[in-house]
Amino acid sequence: MKRFSKVAGIAAVASAAVLAGSFYAVSRAGVTSGVVKGEDGKFTHPAVAAPQENDTSPTPRVKMSDREWKKRMPAAPSLAYYVTRQAGTEPPFSHPYNSWKEAGVFRCVGCGLELFDSKAKFESGTGWPSFWEPAAKGRVSEKPDNSMGMRRVEVNCARCSAHLGHVFDDGPEPTGLRYCMNGAALTFKPIEDKKEPAK
Ligand SMILES: [Zn+2]
Repeated sequence: MKRFSKVAGIAAVASAAVLAGSFYAVSRAGVTSGVVKGEDGKFTHPAVAAPQENDTSPTPRVKMSDREWKKRMPAAPSLAYYVTRQAGTEPPFSHPYNSWKEAGVFRCVGCGLELFDSKAKFESGTGWPSFWEPAAKGRVSEKPDNSMGMRRVEVNCARCSAHLGHVFDDGPEPTGLRYCMNGAALTFKPIEDKKEPAK
């Protein structure tokens, strides 16, 4: 058992594990991970213990019911849900798609419909991914939105009705439109072996 005295911190568990014919998985850095592989080949984490009755933490514990938890949690479980299903807006300059430069197609995060081509993407300076036109006719639907004291035109996915953002008429040529989208409402798919047509 001398061999194991070097890992005194886990000696108690080690002795039990050794007796059981198990061994410790040691990480490449030489630090014991605390993970035990049993004879059945399954890994367990004996070092992780549930809070005990005699917990010595000075922080007083608070018991909360599920209902209380829900009251304290954000209304939406994810930004994508908040944007697409609750017509929310992500903070400007927060999403990587804002400055995304790759060639490909932006799809609806809800249903996968191809909504915008990277060829129609431009730098609007607003902090949101901006396009001058959708990938094809009928991919998005538009309706008046007079919320928040503004007269805007809301843009939704034509297939699953996900809220995507708004469209404004201060965009660049050739359409003069600016589809101001939430990056969280989109997923990006790069072009696969698709040859660019010669200019
Ligand atoms: Zn959709």
